[in-house]
Amino acid sequence: MKFKSYAAMQAGEALQPYEYDPGALAAEDVEVEVDYCGVCHSDLSMIDNEWGISTYPLIAGHEVIGRVVALGDSAKNKGLSLGQRVGIGWTAKSCEYCDACINGEQVNCVNNNVPTISNNGGFASHLRANWQWVIPLPENLDAATAGPLLCGGITVFKPLLMHNITATSRVGVIGIGGLGHMAIKLLRALGAEVTAFSSSPAKTETIKQMGADYVVNSRDPEALNKLAGQFDLIISTVAVDLDWQPYFQALAANGRFHTVGAVMKPFEVQAFNLILGDRGVTGSSTGSPGQLRSLLRLASRADIAPIVEYFPMSKINDALDHLRAGKAHYRIVLKADF
Ligand SMILES: [Zn+2]
Ligand SMILES: [Zn+2]
Repeated sequence: MKFKSYAAMQAGEALQPYEYDPGALAAEDVEVEVDYCGVCHSDLSMIDNEWGISTYPLIAGHEVIGRVVALGDSAKNKGLSLGQRVGIGWTAKSCEYCDACINGEQVNCVNNNVPTISNNGGFASHLRANWQWVIPLPENLDAATAGPLLCGGITVFKPLLMHNITATSRVGVIGIGGLGHMAIKLLRALGAEVTAFSSSPAKTETIKQMGADYVVNSRDPEALNKLAGQFDLIISTVAVDLDWQPYFQALAANGRFHTVGAVMKPFEVQAFNLILGDRGVTGSSTGSPGQLRSLLRLASRADIAPIVEYFPMSKINDALDHLRAGKAHYRIVLKADF
């Protein structure tokens, strides 16, 4: 059977309907029929070959929600069953034998860590991934909104795990878009005190409804300076260069400034902002299968749903244009209509 998809045939071009033969199902792989696929900014980066690693035809899509339709011979006794609802995120395969993989840190695999997009992604009727990266969906998690948790959601959940965020933590989130709004909802579920840094003060009420305790105008230097020494963690979700010094100064002792936004310009940190108070700067990408499972369980129990707008997958180029134009209302999800 051929898989149907929408593929970029060259960097930066509109996607085209594209059918391909996936070949025999590898023993460790699971085949999933796609119901929904979120659209992430990294899809655009890969379609446009911004990172220089794309090969064409390229089938992007890495926030997949679907159902298991086939199991390779070695994937048959791994707790997954035919028809089961599952999700697939940024990664499709890891080596399973390096130190990181053995330690359950598969996202940091040093060998052959294959992104879902490089393996033929979810802008398609079907896709395949190694069974470890096929994440079971909890029963009562809404399949129609869950897709963005698989990449955007785990990206902002990982720092909360790394830095042991609890109900007594004070956390700031810079940039309340697709990633930032999920960060606020997760922090609220953990009970932390949440301050949102937004350049759109008009969104203050909406941001508070998401769960933020405070909203601070990120373009108001006075307001930022008043927050010196407060935060255990500040997560930056923005990919633009800001004046970071007020944020470093806003860290409490042992505080961490953590970026998940791919800012191309190097950060300039004054040494004394790190030396005084044992403060640090960290970063992370997505998460490992165990962390993805934890996130979906939390989302299911605490009713955390990303705010999404829908496009049929057949209108995928409209969806990509919408995202390119910066018009996405938090997160876009495509509904498969092959
Ligand atoms: Zn590995
Ligand atoms: Zn992504």
